[in-house]
Amino acid sequence: MSIPHYFPSLGQLTKRFGTPFYLYDFTNIQQQYLKIKGAFAGRKSLIAYALKANSNLSVVQQIASLGGGADCVSLGEIKRAILAGVKPYHIIFSGVGKRKDEILEALHLNILFINVESEDELLLVEKIASSIRTEARISLRVNPNINPKTHPYISTGLNENKFGIPVQEAKRLYLYAHKSPHLKPVGIHFHIGSQLLDLEPLQEATQKISSLFHSLNAIGLELKFFDVGGGLGINYTDEKPIEPYDYAQMILKELRGTEATIICEPGRFIVGNSGYLITSVLYEKINDSKRFVIVDTAMNDLIRPTLYDAIHQIALFDSEKIIDTEILEHSHCTLADVVGPICESGDFLAKNIKLPPLKHNNLLIIKNAGAYGFTMASHYNTRPNPPEIAFNDQKKVWVIRSKERLESLWENELAYLKDKQ
Ligand SMILES: *Cc1c(COP(=O)(O)O)cnc(C)c1O
Repeated sequence: MSIPHYFPSLGQLTKRFGTPFYLYDFTNIQQQYLKIKGAFAGRKSLIAYALKANSNLSVVQQIASLGGGADCVSLGEIKRAILAGVKPYHIIFSGVGKRKDEILEALHLNILFINVESEDELLLVEKIASSIRTEARISLRVNPNINPKTHPYISTGLNENKFGIPVQEAKRLYLYAHKSPHLKPVGIHFHIGSQLLDLEPLQEATQKISSLFHSLNAIGLELKFFDVGGGLGINYTDEKPIEPYDYAQMILKELRGTEATIICEPGRFIVGNSGYLITSVLYEKINDSKRFVIVDTAMNDLIRPTLYDAIHQIALFDSEKIIDTEILEHSHCTLADVVGPICESGDFLAKNIKLPPLKHNNLLIIKNAGAYGFTMASHYNTRPNPPEIAFNDQKKVWVIRSKERLESLWENELAYLKDKQ
């Protein structure tokens, strides 16, 4: 992704907020949402944005304002979605380890359905629903046992992964739920992994699950929602992502002859290419012949390079000009690792990338950081989380999360200091 022409002036922003900070392109978020929604045009569909990719309230509000729903994996995410204006009947609750209080609250909030991931969980949902004399709308997450050919940490659709219920068992549980007065099976769900670049495993999974869906239909167990999960990959370097149109056509073909509403749960696809992490160069150094560029952001702000071997291209901002990755490739550069101040060798943002000689306070633009960036940030080394800022193609720039106060990092500990009570 090249940087859009309406990218804001970083000189002014850094004067106001310092560095590091996250910067999100709300125009791109809207376009990505409309792209995936449009792919399913002519069919009833719900785009349930996966909050875990980026759960900033303003980001979720933008998606909700376009009619989007939310795929949540904790009560916290459900509450965020509601605060941001997502309608409860557009919210799905997924995840392998839902707590009892979370299930109870989800039932009280009357969300669209709970995505159940095991028999144990199904029985607990039934018990809780019965205790409050209600009928819980549920869907089962079925594990199609398909290798999605992505990084093992983000592969979820194999029996060796902790997610979902094997096909045969799912059938039995559907029949059980169908008979229970406190369970109402309304959907079927699968999600085989993230950053998927290959349509074939998705098609195999869709075929397997739709065949179960059709066989349940045939015995009078009619499900209203066919939930294909998320996982659509994006371009970080030179990947060739799946076209939303091809993806949707593949699914529509499998569901021909049925009325089911399609639910799709993209996270990365909507926000991944829409985000940037802006950081300042602190120092340069060469150890033997190895060049390091030390910056003021770190693995606690963006852990993807460390956790997933992810590659984030970096552009340069110098004298009010953006020098994008492709131009950098051709200019006078040497190889360097871009590293942060954290006391870990795993603390890097990029390895062996080409960069020109850099000076103190030069700004680097770490690209494609909108998904699984801020949401995975930690306070490691007692570093406050960076602020988040939005911009759009109308040249508007606004804060969507203020800079964290350092004091808030130890607020919950102060009262327990021995001599300070
Ligand atoms: C993580 C997740 C998603 C979103 O994945 P992306 O790769 O970001 O699209 C959707 N559904 C479920 C159940 C998930 O766990």
